[in-house]
Amino acid sequence: MGHQSSVGEVVSSGRPHAPYKRVRIRLFGTNKTASTDSMSRPPGRRVVRWGNCLDPVRGCTGGRTNNGYGCWWGCYAKEASRRFHIIFDVPVPMILDELVLSRDLQRLDVGWVRIGVNGDPCFDWVTTARVAEIVAAHDKIPVVLTRVWRAPSRGTLQRLLDADTRLHVTLCAFDTRGFQSVRNKVLEMYSEMGGVAVTRLVTFAFLPESELWDTQDAMAQSGPVLEQPARIMKTNPVWKLLHHTRYVPHISYVSGRPDHRWLSAGTLYPRLPQCATGCSDCKHQCMTGYGAQRPLTSESSL
Ligand code: SF4
Repeated sequence: MGHQSSVGEVVSSGRPHAPYKRVRIRLFGTNKTASTDSMSRPPGRRVVRWGNCLDPVRGCTGGRTNNGYGCWWGCYAKEASRRFHIIFDVPVPMILDELVLSRDLQRLDVGWVRIGVNGDPCFDWVTTARVAEIVAAHDKIPVVLTRVWRAPSRGTLQRLLDADTRLHVTLCAFDTRGFQSVRNKVLEMYSEMGGVAVTRLVTFAFLPESELWDTQDAMAQSGPVLEQPARIMKTNPVWKLLHHTRYVPHISYVSGRPDHRWLSAGTLYPRLPQCATGCSDCKHQCMTGYGAQRPLTSESSL
């Protein structure tokens, strides 16, 4: 266990923990989004430096929820940040250098950009909207992923819409009605304004008698829904509410082999109307094909 120092740093086993450093917003890739690393080798544990992801904010207060596991399924970004001794629960807005980001975007041969990987962009909507505008100016489709811990203003939504942004809001059946209602209002408003508003529904195989099935089934019916089967650890507090025999080891993006730490029940709603590329087979899960006027990119049809 670590301890809290006077400047808010947690110190454990000699190496200090600290929030993310503020750095310039750059494009990057992950082991999930890229099939090879920058040397064209399978990614493995090597760092994937190049890709179509960016973070206006790193870290997220949602990391404090669910007994420190982050969102109900257990936040993957928080779990990964532990290896780097980062205090994830403090969201840190990054620095927007428009020239540097534009230079990155000029080199990108993928038609869309994921905004929000190692933190939730909602903690700096102004920068997120500007980033989306810059992405759009390079003829790429911005895809913003958020849990909406802070709601965007109508003006921000208008800027996102003008940039043709796909707004993905992540929800799951464990979320309280109040939590869902706030997020659904944002989705509805964006949709009414003419934007593509997508519910990223993180799904669980609950115990057979659980009423959560009804909640989840209803959520799967509401508007454009992209199913994200939860990957979950047995140590997560919600594990006891799940139907264990339906869970099998997730195939690791790093090794390509079953990872016995993370378990998944796989796709539970195969008939959901998903994007034209068939999201269940696609690791990128962008929904840029959903209702899009633009031609699909080669990357989005992987
Ligand atoms: S909102 Fe996203 S980044 Fe924040 S804790 Fe939840 S999963 Fe992690």
